[in-house]
Amino acid sequence: MIRIQNYIGGELQDSVTGQFLENINPANGSIYSKIPNSGSEDVERAIEAAESAFPMWSELPEKKRGEWLLKIAEGLRKKSKEFAEAESRDSGKAIQLATTVDIPRAIQNFEYFSTAFYHLSGNTHPMDGKAVNYTTRKPLGVIGAISPWNLPLYLLTWKIAPAIAAGNTIVAKPSEVTPMTAYLFSKLLVELSFPPGVINIVHGTGPSVGAPICASPKTKAISFTGSTATGKTVASTAASMFKKVSLEMGGKNPNIVFADCDFEEAVSGSVRAAFSNNGQICLCGSRIYVERPIYEKFKEEFIKKANQLKIGDPLDESNDQGAIVSKNHYEKILKCIELAKEEGGKVLMGGSPFPVDGEHSKGFYISPTLIEGVSETSRTNQEEIFGPVATIAPFDTEREVIGFANGTDYGLSGSIWTQDISRGHRVASKIDSGILWVNSWMVRDLRTPFGGMKASGVGREGGEWAFDFYTETKNIHVKL
Ligand code: NAD
Repeated sequence: MIRIQNYIGGELQDSVTGQFLENINPANGSIYSKIPNSGSEDVERAIEAAESAFPMWSELPEKKRGEWLLKIAEGLRKKSKEFAEAESRDSGKAIQLATTVDIPRAIQNFEYFSTAFYHLSGNTHPMDGKAVNYTTRKPLGVIGAISPWNLPLYLLTWKIAPAIAAGNTIVAKPSEVTPMTAYLFSKLLVELSFPPGVINIVHGTGPSVGAPICASPKTKAISFTGSTATGKTVASTAASMFKKVSLEMGGKNPNIVFADCDFEEAVSGSVRAAFSNNGQICLCGSRIYVERPIYEKFKEEFIKKANQLKIGDPLDESNDQGAIVSKNHYEKILKCIELAKEEGGKVLMGGSPFPVDGEHSKGFYISPTLIEGVSETSRTNQEEIFGPVATIAPFDTEREVIGFANGTDYGLSGSIWTQDISRGHRVASKIDSGILWVNSWMVRDLRTPFGGMKASGVGREGGEWAFDFYTETKNIHVKL
């Protein structure tokens, strides 16, 4: 049984509480590791370590900080197979996804931000030869980072890398559902003799670890990724202290298919958008709208293609889909499917647990599910399910489908499939989401802003937007 430890002040240590939580392998339902059930004392120690490290780290030349980020990237690359296997076992995601997306992206996060900070330039505003203004950036101090279970190392490092590149120190809380790669990451930092206190990782539940990180007056900003409900709590705690918050929250993203699309590309792109990582990606296209002339044909081909997805043991490289992350979440998704039926939905494919034999028979598997006939205002079309469940509906006009796309509280992302590029631009400009793809899905460039509108988010991460969050911009006026 693996015993996970916190990483505080450069040392791996048990929690002060001495208590543990069980970590379950979703592929077979067995308990395979113990997680520290940390509390506010552990958080306080981590914050103190981060505060003590801040003067040294923030004064280190930017290039030197960047070199440390590159060392981390190299260390991760050398161990990428170990990390991918751990991510797959811990979260139930298919190893092929962990190998090609999660771990390469964690490496890229450090590589990209290792140089991004010193490529930034400031602004100058001369005033008629009488004075000059120039801007500088200052790191904030100790950052609190809270991340979810769906892309565990990918999203944890998406916060850590820019925060420390800009000269901050950090106290990070990974999801208690998927703590393993954060633990391996902290072991890597020990091996690299990474400067103590710059990165601290405290494991435990949201209320006992996440809440004190947000409530401490010593954390100057909170970068949160998770559900909209938790985001609300985080925001209200931070607001009373005028703390900066970045909130990356839920989505209910439209996937719009026009009749003039490249049909094959639109079908396979829509299947990927709906079901990648079992639909447990905030960007998944869970509401599919198809222009009426190709609706029936699209439906048929979509189902054919989705039925080819191979489901089973996440560690088997031939499987496209693994298990749902936890029993709780598995039960929630099945309830959502029942609700869709009560709301008049017709299940076109899936709709039930996916049976897996042998040693994985107690794992949490659900068949990719497609539902037709639920109204736009139904809970099924309004609430995030975050599982392998998508709805499909026809539309007749551009105006109508833009209304459908904008008809939820969320506004994270969306895809538009059309060969009329003017239409692509036009529709993308009218959808209230932070990220739109025309003829693709989830293609990411780390230089671009990432984040949602409405209940999907506050603020942007990525590129220089990340540094806008992780620094204070200062204007200095000099009389000439
Ligand atoms: P969650 O909100 O339950 O948990 C997220 C994190 O917050 C976890 O680490 C959890 O322990 C912590 N937490 C819980 N209660 C807390 C509290 N009171 N104070 C502080 N922290 C607390 O979300 P989840 O189920 O882990 O993740 C799934 C959600 O994340 C989905 O809604 C998904 O859309 C969203 N998500 C969004 C993005 C994005 O970039 N917009 C990316 C990935 C996931």
